[in-house]
Amino acid sequence: MLPDFHIHTSFSGDSQTPARTQIEQCISLGMKELCITDHHDYDSGMEEEIFLLDFDTYLPALHTLRQEYQNQIQVNIGVELGLQLHVKDYLKDLVSSLEVDFIIGSCHFIDQKDPYDPTFFQGKTEQEIYQHFFEVTLKRVQSLDCFDSLGHLDYVVRYSPTKNQNYSYYAYQEYIDPILKTLIQKGKALECNTAGFRYHLGQPNPCQDILTRYRELGGELITLGSDAHTSPHIGYNFPYIQSLLETCGFRYLTTYHHRRPTPVLLERV
Ligand SMILES: [Zn+2]
Ligand SMILES: [Zn+2]
Repeated sequence: MLPDFHIHTSFSGDSQTPARTQIEQCISLGMKELCITDHHDYDSGMEEEIFLLDFDTYLPALHTLRQEYQNQIQVNIGVELGLQLHVKDYLKDLVSSLEVDFIIGSCHFIDQKDPYDPTFFQGKTEQEIYQHFFEVTLKRVQSLDCFDSLGHLDYVVRYSPTKNQNYSYYAYQEYIDPILKTLIQKGKALECNTAGFRYHLGQPNPCQDILTRYRELGGELITLGSDAHTSPHIGYNFPYIQSLLETCGFRYLTTYHHRRPTPVLLERV
């Protein structure tokens, strides 16, 4: 099975699953490698900051597991970093000294609130919210360099009251194309996140039309992750995604080691 490069463990405030359990699930699915990417959202604005990683505990624990499982699977160490402009200097300093394989940059908090909070959608139209989400994402992608792959680009759609019923790439093309072009120009990858299927979108995040558009614009670096917080979600819909990515025009998936991209030929996995 294709390598899963977006996996959460009990080091994340919203997962109870030990890292060992996640690794063993990857082995049982026949993966050759995986990447654990726990949450680190600095100064999110939440009353209780539950999405902060203690790197002094996290990194040694994962290094120990990497050693322990080295004959069965390659355990890569990553982080899912919350992108926000007001913490630009903090993120730059953090990343400059962080020895990890892979960094997902994600837009979780917009104006200090996460779309999973139902009040996020109050008082505005869905269109206004989606547009604002993409505009904020563009500014962050333009201004920040502290990541390798942009996580779940249309994340906001997962939590909207109507999900993706009134959403399409084409409706927001003028906001999304500049994001894709900026990623390509900066040599950053785009993530294909299969949690969208679990949220009943019938699509990954971002949706297939965005993946196709990224490829059309010349984008080649695509990373893949299930965003699993529990073991049954590891590698979710990966066999289907393999053919979907080929349909979108990709021949390679990208994995990261020491923050350098490595191509993985899709047909051979
Ligand atoms: Zn995320
Ligand atoms: Zn995640």
